[in-house]
Amino acid sequence: STFAEIDLGEALNRNIHRCRYVNPTPVQRYAIPISLAGRDLMACAQTGSGKTAAFCFPIISEIMRSSPPLKNGRYQGGRLTCPQALILSPTRELSCQIHDEAKKFSYQTGVRIGVVYGGAPAFLQLRNLEKGVDILVATPGRLMDLIERARISLQKVNYLVLDEADRMLDMGFEPQIRKIVEQMDMPPPGTRQTMLFSATFPHGIQRLASDFLKNYIFLTV
Ligand code: AMP
Repeated sequence: STFAEIDLGEALNRNIHRCRYVNPTPVQRYAIPISLAGRDLMACAQTGSGKTAAFCFPIISEIMRSSPPLKNGRYQGGRLTCPQALILSPTRELSCQIHDEAKKFSYQTGVRIGVVYGGAPAFLQLRNLEKGVDILVATPGRLMDLIERARISLQKVNYLVLDEADRMLDMGFEPQIRKIVEQMDMPPPGTRQTMLFSATFPHGIQRLASDFLKNYIFLTV
């Protein structure tokens, strides 16, 4: 099958065409329908497998279809950013890469992408969030810091992605990740959908999967 046959919404399908993606990669072929069906997912996939698009496409598609475009485009002004989707990634480089790709995919969809990461001044990153953000890409340490400073709230997050989860554990981010997910589980309980991507599936990742995912589908490519 080709992307043209998958109905992700007109604007997104146009962007996929612009990126010259014709055929979905294996992880995209399986993960996109699973995500569109609202199921949690544990995917073993390497860098280069096309996993970024695999988690970005369904999230952009769902947000695009659920939010009225007018409200999306309107300046909201507040200092507190409440994204609908959160993508956690281990490093500044990977976060910026995901952010760049997600921006291309979301062109003219009304879906807004933001990014925060450590090792650079927070005020510039915060300024870019002030117009409102639907999908936030973040490294765990900086995100936790901005939650504690009451600049980001995870109360409205419906979609959570943990990308390169094995690397995040290797880098010692497990306590921050657990705190971040606790923030989302505070009442009122939402209907969060979670996708966990990891190149390997060691005990630490199995533990995260059983703690964070509900009735999930396991995928290896
Ligand atoms: P990723 O594994 O997400 O880092 O993607 C690896 C590379 O493959 C990136 O340069 C993508 O732009 C590219 N890519 C992802 N999906 C497709 C696709 N379906 N067709 C062609 N290129 C793709």
